[in-house]
Amino acid sequence: MLPGADLLGAAGPVVYARPMSDQMHPVIAVDVGGTNMRGARVAPQGRILARTRVPTPVAGGPDAILETLVRLCRTLAGHAKVAAVGLGVPGAVSQRRGVVFSSPNIPCWRDEPIGPRLARRLGLPVLVDNDANLHALGEHWLGAGRDVPNLVLATLGTGIGGGIVLRGRLWHGDAGRAGELGHTVVDPDGPRCGCGANGCVEAYASATGIVRAWRYENRVSPSGTGARTRAVLRDTPETIAARARRGDPRALAVFAEAGRALGVATASWLQVLDVHTVVFGGGVAGALDLLEPLVRLELDARLFGLESRRIRILHAALGDDAGILGAARLALGKGGRAPGLPRASEASRGVAGRKTRNYGPGGTASAVPASVDPPSALPPR
Ligand SMILES: [Zn+2]
Repeated sequence: MLPGADLLGAAGPVVYARPMSDQMHPVIAVDVGGTNMRGARVAPQGRILARTRVPTPVAGGPDAILETLVRLCRTLAGHAKVAAVGLGVPGAVSQRRGVVFSSPNIPCWRDEPIGPRLARRLGLPVLVDNDANLHALGEHWLGAGRDVPNLVLATLGTGIGGGIVLRGRLWHGDAGRAGELGHTVVDPDGPRCGCGANGCVEAYASATGIVRAWRYENRVSPSGTGARTRAVLRDTPETIAARARRGDPRALAVFAEAGRALGVATASWLQVLDVHTVVFGGGVAGALDLLEPLVRLELDARLFGLESRRIRILHAALGDDAGILGAARLALGKGGRAPGLPRASEASRGVAGRKTRNYGPGGTASAVPASVDPPSALPPR
């Protein structure tokens, strides 16, 4: 039982039933990955007070993951009074219901109500969102985008994830899946993407895409042999970038292609949203010095509605802490959606039997049908 949970009683039947904007107390923030869970206790102003990391017991199934999360949160809370928990998860989620629909990195999570389950165990509100969204929220709160109202963030890692912050809040779209920036098509006849479509920007400017292009430039197949082939197969985006900086024409060609694709995609994001700031994070953003000139060229050529010189291209500033701080921001009731309600089926089982009410960040209660996942809305201008 967490300190501060006494309000709800040991059985903790009520979830999501406290005002979220409790600015006096720290929150617990957890970035759940397929390999590790990284957690922190975070002060309302964003200072990380304690942190820890444990392996994610994916093989143990949903129950083992839940137990590990419970222990992690209790360890982080210690004797401190804690206001809420924010959870970043890799996959598609219902932010309102705290349910993970599916997660490529945690395949045992299918329609997993991790938010309500963890909330019941801890007796604390638990807010859940996609990890890439929370990276964007963290960078907006305390990182590269802290002085702009709106931003688009793309995480250039194994794939390309993304998040959209408008007027300080995450834009989730109608189904909670907004921000899948990596699957912006830049060439319908381009290489096959992991999603099944052709020519997504992820197929060019992710780590996977850059390695693929590098092998193609060197006419090397993954099954090839020989010393030169093995050397090419060992190369990573970092080593390919180092070669490009030394003037290797093939490596420069790889980053030219990746930069162009990224520029075409970025122009679309900024054009559609009328947003002036794009933030690039993830490992491949370490090569932003190589990519940015190409991105800028495409923006100059394509942004007829926006003056491209006003566009800011920024490198993410928080590194691995972006997701943690985004989850903390969410738990503080800022930047995400209003906290959700337990599922109707759970309420009917008596698990969340008390009156279900939805407290927005302002603390005013509004009844929301528990079974409906209403579209999120832009905050008023
Ligand atoms: Zn795709």
